[in-house]
Amino acid sequence: MKELEEYIAQYGTVKEGNVLKVDAFLNHQCDVELFDRMGAEWARLFAGKQIDKILTIEASGIGIACVVSRHFGNVPVVFAKKYQSINLDGEQYCTSIHSFTKQKDFHVIVAKKFLHEGEHVLLIDDFLANGCALNGLIELCEEAGAIVEGIGIAIEKGFQDGGKKLRERGYDLQSLAIVESMDPAVGTVSFRH
Ligand code: 5GP
Repeated sequence: MKELEEYIAQYGTVKEGNVLKVDAFLNHQCDVELFDRMGAEWARLFAGKQIDKILTIEASGIGIACVVSRHFGNVPVVFAKKYQSINLDGEQYCTSIHSFTKQKDFHVIVAKKFLHEGEHVLLIDDFLANGCALNGLIELCEEAGAIVEGIGIAIEKGFQDGGKKLRERGYDLQSLAIVESMDPAVGTVSFRH
């Protein structure tokens, strides 16, 4: 999505450690009109698929997913919650993931009442790096018996292997911008087309 690439080039900053900061429009301050156009683009890319629910992960995915739902018939949006320690009551699906940005392990949970067997789910998130967050969401869907119809990612860092592995596993992964490389010394970002 050319517009998203232009936003990244204009407002993104490249940090040490392969981190791209896009807090001016994606995951701190939120550009709702951009989210809306991202939703329209995913609706085009996933046209014809049955989507009963959107599943994302707190916190950055929530705003994006809620706007995107408007393009998928206002389906419910569920976000997995992250806990560093948990008290399971058996009414939740739970798995554990490693956070790329925080360098910590988290439990991610979804209440059983919000994810059901046979539901067709679209996974949405802001970033894809090594794929840990998405693998966690996929595991929650597997536990529930829900079907992952597609995965919509705003920014995939193509030099990390999460996207490659998910495509190899056969998932319909649609990233709106794929970063090929970035240089923290000069702040440049190049994209894969
Ligand atoms: P993964 O689990 O695929 O390794 O990383 C994806 C998660 O880490 C996303 O949910 C996102 O919040 C965070 N993340 C990964 N890389 C970046 C990055 O370069 N910039 C920002 N802002 N977040 C990132």
